[in-house]
Amino acid sequence: MLANLTIDNGRLWDMLMETAAIGGTPKGGIRRLSLSDEDRRVRDWFRRECEALGCTVHVDTAGNMVAIRPGKDPTKKPIAMGSHLDTQPTGGKFDGILGVLGGLEVMKTLHQAGYETSSPVALVNWTNEEGARFSPSMVGSAVYAGVYSQAQMDAYKDKDGVTQGEALDAIGYRGQEKPGSLGFQAYFELHIEQGPILEEEGQTIGIVTGIQGIKWFTCTILGRESHAGTTPMAYRRDALAAFAEAATEIRKIALDHGGLATIGIVSAHPGSPNIIPGEVRFTLDMRHHQDAELKHMVTKAKVAIAEASTRHDAAYTVEPLQDSPAQPFDETCIAMVRAATEKLGLKAREITSGAGHDAMYTARVCPTSMIFVPCAEGLSHNEAESATQADCGHGAQVLLEAVLAYDARG
Ligand SMILES: [Zn+2]
Repeated sequence: MLANLTIDNGRLWDMLMETAAIGGTPKGGIRRLSLSDEDRRVRDWFRRECEALGCTVHVDTAGNMVAIRPGKDPTKKPIAMGSHLDTQPTGGKFDGILGVLGGLEVMKTLHQAGYETSSPVALVNWTNEEGARFSPSMVGSAVYAGVYSQAQMDAYKDKDGVTQGEALDAIGYRGQEKPGSLGFQAYFELHIEQGPILEEEGQTIGIVTGIQGIKWFTCTILGRESHAGTTPMAYRRDALAAFAEAATEIRKIALDHGGLATIGIVSAHPGSPNIIPGEVRFTLDMRHHQDAELKHMVTKAKVAIAEASTRHDAAYTVEPLQDSPAQPFDETCIAMVRAATEKLGLKAREITSGAGHDAMYTARVCPTSMIFVPCAEGLSHNEAESATQADCGHGAQVLLEAVLAYDARG
């Protein structure tokens, strides 16, 4: 029988508001770029808080911080919670931060009750999730999972030419341990949804079943520039007309497959009111939670581009830019999150994550799942990002229940 422990949502809220001052902006957001002095200050705060609860704070060579609360059985690997404390340049108070501070609230609740888990419990603050100062994003968890090497991580530069390795050394957060050497039994990440679904449906918790696959392409359609006044419609090789037809078809493909398609950048050349565009360059972002469906969507999109180009006697190219496969989460972890929502009587639904998270990389090396709570109007990566005290508290309570259930499964 599990103990009935209850997190303190007021204490969690106070931590969210207190740490929001570190890098706080006049518009109520946070600017806490990875490995900046603000990042150092919030890391120092996090370390002090964890140590005050009797946790040992490990720091690996990627700067990932892992606070460990011992369990009864020191031979067991820790059950981990975590997320990130860095933000976008004009970030909000919840993205990433809720997952770390929600985990800290779980630690405080266990500590206050003197509750002994069987396995150790870990809380992680991953380095550079946002990718805003040093790209790519989620680099700390990627190095942890062996997706990037430490040398690759160290070499990435910010816009001032400072390498990520130099910045990590400068704030004093390069530890000794090899990333990944502290293996986890399981990993749970609490996060705001960053989308509108939960709020729209009046749900309290999103039971996250996985992260969708993402494929990016850069595409070109090559027609022929010619005079807008003297070239009859039938004689045109209008690259923009071909693009428009392809774009309409691509939107339909996404709708048919229950996926997403976005053409985020379009440029037509040469860009004159009286010249038929001879060339159109555009990006294509396609997403689906099932890789097989995503593959179908991409195949059909390529056909749509080819057919539209042919109709306008144009050539085309489609070059892959990024490919990140769908990452389903662990069935047991998902079931524990679901059971927690049932036990607590919270309105919940299954959901896939549209954005990448550190959990995407931990899922490659240990059983993983996530818990979403609603955020106002689905707004994130914005200083106005907001979530309610009650919802943050419910999320942290589900996190606690999931960790305890995993611990109790023996
Ligand atoms: Zn995040």
